[in-house]
Amino acid sequence: MQNAITDGAGDSMIFAAKLLKSERITPESSREEVRRLVFHTDNRYFDCKVGSCIRVLAPGQYGNPYHARFYSIADCEQPDDAAEFEICVRRCFYIDDASGEEYEGVASTYLCDLKPGSVIKFSGPVGYPFVVPENPDANLLMIGMGTGVAPFRGLIRMIYEKHGGWQGKVRLFHGSRTGLESLYMNDVNNDIGNYFDQPTFKAFQAVSPRPVFNAPIALDKVVEQNAAEVWEIVNSPDSCIYVAGMKQMLGMIDNAMAGIAGSPDAWLSKRNEMAAAGRWLEVLY
Ligand SMILES: Cc1cc2nc3c(=O)[nH]c(=O)nc-3n(C[C@H](O)[C@H](O)[C@H](O)COP(=O)(O)OP(=O)(O)OC[C@H]3O[C@@H](n4cnc5c(N)ncnc54)[C@H](O)[C@@H]3O)c2cc1C
Repeated sequence: MQNAITDGAGDSMIFAAKLLKSERITPESSREEVRRLVFHTDNRYFDCKVGSCIRVLAPGQYGNPYHARFYSIADCEQPDDAAEFEICVRRCFYIDDASGEEYEGVASTYLCDLKPGSVIKFSGPVGYPFVVPENPDANLLMIGMGTGVAPFRGLIRMIYEKHGGWQGKVRLFHGSRTGLESLYMNDVNNDIGNYFDQPTFKAFQAVSPRPVFNAPIALDKVVEQNAAEVWEIVNSPDSCIYVAGMKQMLGMIDNAMAGIAGSPDAWLSKRNEMAAAGRWLEVLY
């Protein structure tokens, strides 16, 4: 696979980028801190594409030279030799099994605490970019969970601002634990709302029915409620499905789609057919 996503050190080229801006895009009242970070690199060899990932080399611990973690490119502009790109980072914590203590995730804390003017090292891009079909009548389905919705803001912007005159349906299904944690439709940030006046655009939001008990986000239910339109999009010429977010969401989508397609086998064969034609694009983590 071209540019496969692996955690190996690899010998790819190392780039440097300066942080231009860091802003929290979840409200202060939300327990999730997600930040939008905008970087600039002068290195003309960095090929920046929405949907592919960079491998950030955060300072290492315990004698390791660096701590490498992937972040998907949420938006980018590459007018000439330089590139300005954006990633969205969720501040992570974990509980150590042995001590029961809470620790900060290394790379996410490094990135969330970074001040404008600081310089990061990274390699990439890796993975497949989210390409937009040539045909402006193509229907597009985007399904994103948590920080997975980040590349869709850039993709939607690309479709309406760069391509223009898009006639195909653009449908975004996005999920977060609560409305406050939704990245682009909350009190401090309503970027997706900017596209609601586009006649071909619709967004559907899913949240958890019982967020305090960590009940699963009902993304599958929202897809099922729109089964007829989803199936029409899947089967229409040149349509594309983009999926981004945590790996667990794939099972949820597969179940919902199997119900719509008639059986798990019928759906799997449709998904494989779309993937082979470059019409199913995913970034899962
Ligand atoms: C293809 C891809 C794309 C991604 N895109 C994004 C993105 O756009 N935005 C985003 O926010 N994230 C993204 N991620 C996730 C990101 O790469 C990191 O995994 C995440 O930020 C956590 O990294 P960290 O260094 O902060 O945490 P780490 O320090 O690596 O800890 C992360 C997890 O590791 C486990 N862990 C580590 N050490 C221990 C220990 N001693 N004891 C117990 N558990 C431990 C815990 O489960 C913990 O939650 C992506 C991942 C992939 C693979």
